[in-house]
Amino acid sequence: MASDVGVCLGHYRELVKSGRYKASSREAAECLSLLFGRSIAVGEEVRLDELMPKPRAHRVYDSPLELLTAGWPTPLLKVSGPPKEAYAKLEWYNPFSASVKDRTVYYLLRSVEGERVVEVSSGNVAVALAAVGNVLGKKVKVYIPTAGRYVAPFLDFLGVEYQVLDVSMTVEALEHLQKDIREGAVHPNQFGNDMNFIAHLRTAAELDWQLSSVGRRPDYIIAGLGTSGHASALGFYFGVKYGTKLIGVQPRDWIPGIRRVETGMKWISLVEAEIVDVSLREALEGVREFARKTGLLIGPSAGAVYKAFTAQRHGGVYVLIFPDSLMKYALLLEQLR
Ligand code: PLP
Repeated sequence: MASDVGVCLGHYRELVKSGRYKASSREAAECLSLLFGRSIAVGEEVRLDELMPKPRAHRVYDSPLELLTAGWPTPLLKVSGPPKEAYAKLEWYNPFSASVKDRTVYYLLRSVEGERVVEVSSGNVAVALAAVGNVLGKKVKVYIPTAGRYVAPFLDFLGVEYQVLDVSMTVEALEHLQKDIREGAVHPNQFGNDMNFIAHLRTAAELDWQLSSVGRRPDYIIAGLGTSGHASALGFYFGVKYGTKLIGVQPRDWIPGIRRVETGMKWISLVEAEIVDVSLREALEGVREFARKTGLLIGPSAGAVYKAFTAQRHGGVYVLIFPDSLMKYALLLEQLR
């Protein structure tokens, strides 16, 4: 396969810009095969439309994986009108981890072969891997930094092996899985596997399809940064197509699911982004304000995104990415009281 997504960006750019693209080289065909999730021959022309969702009107599904993929698009909710018009992408409508990470894990697991899978995660990826692993019959083991221990009960019910480590950041847990890898486990590697970025080019196409239905194109996208896969792919797609600006949110101190850019992220350098800092206190204020306004309980990093939005001065159309809801953070919130 094309070893680095960097070589694919030129091909993806042309596809996003013109809506269709002919795979005129082997490299182009390989890059498009990764994005379209099927084998594309040299000389074949593909259309961006193929990536748009095909929802089931009656919402009847044959299998849990279909519930995920044919369940897309996740809802897009208008949360404010002009001059700062905003649409929030509600990613907790994904069925397994109730978060955006169902998407990442679905594509990561399709890209690796092997029965045993090992990964590090502070929360949503662990739950999504355990869940999708069960569906695909894979044996999953996850290493969790201390702060992610609130997902342990979910992992117990899902029946996967896990170990909570005495480290504060997910990336610090990476060295612990070397032994499992030596013993034959595969590592999907959410921090380095380009399928993370590519998965979210599909999320971008989905979002584009939704916004087009109401005649909108985003001027700004605000998203939290974890691995940066999600935000970078949205920034790339919408930047190419409409000149949209990406606003990446990083924690001033600590917010579950996101981290600071200087801790190292693979994809954020592929796009231009304005980076803003939000503290945990501000993020929880965002959660509170949003709950009072809409009745919806959004997760802490979504609260951070909402807070970053309320601080924006420019008018225009905003998309706010809300990765998950508040529900799985009950234990954490109890500790913060
Ligand atoms: N998971 C959660 C709970 C998040 O809040 C976020 C970002 O806001 C992410 C993950 C980030 O996703 P990514 O790893 O694609 O950067």
